[in-house]
Amino acid sequence: MNAQHCGFVAVIGAPNAGKSTLINALVGTKVSIVSPKVQTTRTIVRGIALHESSQIVFIDTPGIFKPKRRLDRAMVAAAWNGEAEADLSIFIVDAARRQPDEENEAIIAQLKERESKKPLILVLNKTDKVDPPKLLDLTARLNAELDFAATFMISALKEDGTNDVLKWLAARVPAGPWHFAEDQVSDMPMRLLAAEITREKLFHNLHQEVPYGLTVETESWEPFDDGSVKIEQVIYIAREAHKPIIIGRGGQAIKRVGEASRLELEDILGQRVHVKLFVKVRENWTDDPERYRLWGLDPSA
Ligand code: GDP
Ligand code: MG
Repeated sequence: MNAQHCGFVAVIGAPNAGKSTLINALVGTKVSIVSPKVQTTRTIVRGIALHESSQIVFIDTPGIFKPKRRLDRAMVAAAWNGEAEADLSIFIVDAARRQPDEENEAIIAQLKERESKKPLILVLNKTDKVDPPKLLDLTARLNAELDFAATFMISALKEDGTNDVLKWLAARVPAGPWHFAEDQVSDMPMRLLAAEITREKLFHNLHQEVPYGLTVETESWEPFDDGSVKIEQVIYIAREAHKPIIIGRGGQAIKRVGEASRLELEDILGQRVHVKLFVKVRENWTDDPERYRLWGLDPSA
């Protein structure tokens, strides 16, 4: 076997560009939640991919956007810290979105200013929704702005072109021992991943603005002798008025969420799961430092 290689790759991009979808495609399993709403990724999730003798550890950053709230500032700081720690970075752009757009321009400006000269690659995503001439224009325009080591055009959703990205990265991560076990796909603790999964189901099941004001925490994780596990989670909401929306008529909404979460957790864990959800109001949870530490974010960012 060849000598081992191992490196960290940061995935940078505007909210909704497809960062999580790309990492999931490269890792080959779900490590980061995906949703059509912006700002779903709140913390840095590492997905771990293997290609031949290379282990590639992806840092999925919260989308970089204009911070307003304190939580937003912490997320943006975390995103740029992730970039600073990586060996290589991917700048992913939703090629189907009208360009130039404000968010990408802000990221480009930041990338121009970064000190490190480590390789940066451009990934134009969602090619399944764009005409080729537009892709070529975008490639030319962005390459004129920044010095990319390579440009890829992919559809993360359809896993079209994603393997080329993986191969390219595998050939360039530095020599060194693997950081993680061969079968490990993420270093995210299961409790946190379970909470993320429930949060994703809430995003998918609620239509109002409510999801932005909620957070999910796993309170208990109790294995039973019959091989099943009971997972209790609390959905914290900022306003009492949101409770009926989360719970739904006759508890239907929360039941759907718990059921969807259970199915996915059973799939991931390979065991029977009981999910119990509680809803609690905690005003100003976005200003509570304890919530930040749990997510690996810096409250003073
Ligand atoms: P993130 O915020 O950058 O992590 O973006 P996500 O990975 O959560 O994706 C945002 C949305 O774009 C989701 O609805 C994805 O299904 C969708 N998406 C991601 N990649 C593609 C793609 O290649 N083609 C299309 N059509 N949609 C995509
Ligand atoms: Mg994401």
